[in-house]
Amino acid sequence: MAYISLYRKYRPRSFADVVGQDVIIKILKNSIINNKIGHAYIFSGPRGTGKTSTAKIFANAVNCQNPIDGDVCGKCDICKNNGNEEIDIVEIDAASNNGVEEIREIKNSIKLLPVELKYKVYIIDEVHMLSSSAFNALLKTLEEPPAHAIFILATTEINKIPLTVLSRCQKFDFKKINKIDIFKRLEYIIKEEKINNIDKDILNLISDLSDGGLRDAINLLDQVNSLNKDNITQTDVLNLVGAINKNLIIEFLNSIIECNIINVIKNVNDFYDKSINFINVVNNLESLIKDILIFNNSSNYFDKEYEDILYNFSKIDIDLLLKASEYLFALNNELKKNNQRVISEIYLLKITLLFKNENLNNNIKNDSNNTNNKNHKNEEKLEFSVNKEEIINNKAILINNVFFGANKEEKEKFIKKYNNISEYLTDKNFNSIANLLIKAVPEVVSKDIVLFSFKNDFEVVLFDKNWELVKKILKNIYKKNYDVIAISINDWNIEKNKYIQNVKNGVKYTYIDEKKEKKSSRKKKNDLENIVEDIFGEEIIVEE
Ligand SMILES: [Zn+2]
Repeated sequence: MAYISLYRKYRPRSFADVVGQDVIIKILKNSIINNKIGHAYIFSGPRGTGKTSTAKIFANAVNCQNPIDGDVCGKCDICKNNGNEEIDIVEIDAASNNGVEEIREIKNSIKLLPVELKYKVYIIDEVHMLSSSAFNALLKTLEEPPAHAIFILATTEINKIPLTVLSRCQKFDFKKINKIDIFKRLEYIIKEEKINNIDKDILNLISDLSDGGLRDAINLLDQVNSLNKDNITQTDVLNLVGAINKNLIIEFLNSIIECNIINVIKNVNDFYDKSINFINVVNNLESLIKDILIFNNSSNYFDKEYEDILYNFSKIDIDLLLKASEYLFALNNELKKNNQRVISEIYLLKITLLFKNENLNNNIKNDSNNTNNKNHKNEEKLEFSVNKEEIINNKAILINNVFFGANKEEKEKFIKKYNNISEYLTDKNFNSIANLLIKAVPEVVSKDIVLFSFKNDFEVVLFDKNWELVKKILKNIYKKNYDVIAISINDWNIEKNKYIQNVKNGVKYTYIDEKKEKKSSRKKKNDLENIVEDIFGEEIIVEE
């Protein structure tokens, strides 16, 4: 027996089977119950959302001999035949030709009464592909349709349909099908088919990837199933698709423009870990940026839902977006020669840092406009600048102190256990920091301080932004508190030479008390505190 695709096998045969378009189905059923059937309908919406299936069911339902509550009865000759080889139900695919011949034929035959049925139904799929002369011919027919004729025009691109045609049709806007409905349908299908090697996580991933299109979801399920593997993994699915969920790309761009470096790197790593070709990611980012630029300069080009998303990006400086796409273009070329994670990381950081000043400027603007946000935004800004200054000061002190306490045995002990970091690569809370730490080289270790070096400056920036996480992960591994410093390999070479020179010249290192240093610098800054301290003693300020 020839294989019937799951999609064909589980294609809805009645209104009751149509998934996720409840409002539309209700209106269509009511029009049949009340015998108020129109002569021209347009079904618009994304691919795979049930437009053509609904059109076919409607064609059957209006002709069904015993419709039940507006739906097909499933038992009469028309329903049993399901519109197949039915002379009075004509399907035209405008995508396969420009349609002039077909429309001319319709014009000639439409006046004749239906041969067998009550209604002649013309379903024109991808109607936006009709040539303009075909549209003109269609328009003449739509102006005065005979009582026995019904047109159903289906399209994914309603903006390409001439208004003169639109104005003669009842419009139905098919929505993307929500994830839960898709998931339930897939679950139903694998139960019916007795498929046991595909678990719920995989169904979830398929529902995610299909982006509201049930047909794509079922076709993907079919492909996954035909792999004939005992255990289907997420990577199997992603390899089959090759494409990337649009939402992931939108989130990715969001992290970039928010200058959220840790998220950006995490995203890059996620794509690589899931074996998604990063060239695809770059292409998707490029086309999202292109869409933002188009959106900024024209209206009604995209569907409403997508426009809402693009609107959120529309305030970003156009020059920055153009600069970002230049980098993406360069990265694309690099990756074609050498598809390495680190190259993608570097380029994405370059792109992300483009938006750093943009964010600071926005914060300042928001501060003056919005009193509610004022405190919060100020805090964020302060934290950023104070941290930076503190890090530089702390680093100098910590580098001094780690050299002061440098100990070969401590270093050996530390390095012995350092590979345990890899156990955190799969930990949800620590995976991105573990990914970073694996690239770190412990250079100097004292009893309570570790100095790491990194090949790249951006890794140092990441480390500095997340030193608290680093300390946490080290505490988990070594069961003790370490202070940590990271510097680039270049800086490390400079510090190392300085140290060697000092040792040669007999310069002794002394321990610097970090807390005392902080306190004294604070005293200098704040006279009021000095006075308070003189009167009440130091503790008051410390407690504060
Ligand atoms: Zn029937």
